[in-house]
Amino acid sequence: MRSQVLLAPLYLFFLSSSFAQTTSSFDLNKYISTISISDLKTHLEIVASDEMEGRDTGTEGQKKSGVYLINTYKNNGISFPKGATDFYQKVPSAFMNGLPDSENIWAFIEGTDKPEEIVVVSAHYDHIGIIDGEIYNGADDDGSGTVALLEIAQAFQEAKNDGHGPKRSILFLHVTGEEHGLYGSSYYTENPLFPLANTISDVNIDMIGRRDEFHLKSNNYIYLIGSNFLSTDLYTICEDVNKKYINIKLDYKYNSRKDPNRFYYRSDHYNFAKHNIPSVFLFNGVHDDYHQATDEVDKIEFDALQKRTQLAFVIAWELANRKNRPVVDKSEK
Ligand SMILES: [Zn+2]
Repeated sequence: MRSQVLLAPLYLFFLSSSFAQTTSSFDLNKYISTISISDLKTHLEIVASDEMEGRDTGTEGQKKSGVYLINTYKNNGISFPKGATDFYQKVPSAFMNGLPDSENIWAFIEGTDKPEEIVVVSAHYDHIGIIDGEIYNGADDDGSGTVALLEIAQAFQEAKNDGHGPKRSILFLHVTGEEHGLYGSSYYTENPLFPLANTISDVNIDMIGRRDEFHLKSNNYIYLIGSNFLSTDLYTICEDVNKKYINIKLDYKYNSRKDPNRFYYRSDHYNFAKHNIPSVFLFNGVHDDYHQATDEVDKIEFDALQKRTQLAFVIAWELANRKNRPVVDKSEK
């Protein structure tokens, strides 16, 4: 999650249409359960370790964490996207206001029926580095989303190995430069590997391992932001799959373009939404360790991280497998 800044308003175009929906009936529980606390913990203890030096954009520490992500995909039998030559999308310094060259990292599971239609699952893997000698490990921001993507990809791949590959393609996108200005997602959407017109949705995960002051009694919640802004279908999908498989409280407190915190504009989904791609942002809210050196792994609530990761998985699953892509019935203004 980016610090609050004023962003210039952006205007965009476009419409898309689709038809009546049917939902595939399939018992996902076997794959939902592959998203485990132990795997999430194993990954996060590495991604948010001091060795990664706070993952500031373009630093050696960030690049090292990127290598770990890539090796994890390789170990799970998941490759980079068709049409790419490796796991990296280079984001040049000039695009990022002089920050060092950096990379988005992408992995891909090709769809069986509509491979040209793409569901993006995104999380930023950069954080804010080392400040006054202190390493800011960003375990929640956004180590949590980073490791969630690894586990979601593994769940999709295990299903595929059993003959249940997704009908549409899934692009796992670990974006860079988020903390400095959502640069990686901005670069991707200006230089997309797959046409944006065929990019049916973005499920963006940024901070899902903690709780905020409004949920001191229970971590069984997640804020959803933006799900109904462009597509009623997307809102309905999130509600339905949560009821069917996960059952956590979907909290819409921040689900407004007018919310003074402007969370809708402060993470990477917005760069998809501004192109009228239906997007949903999963977020646990802020806490005292937000953008502090104390955002550490030992404060992560792994039961919550697991459930929210599972929720993101079933949302992406439904988007990838349902008969019709979500209808865009509203527009970003
Ligand atoms: Zn942040």
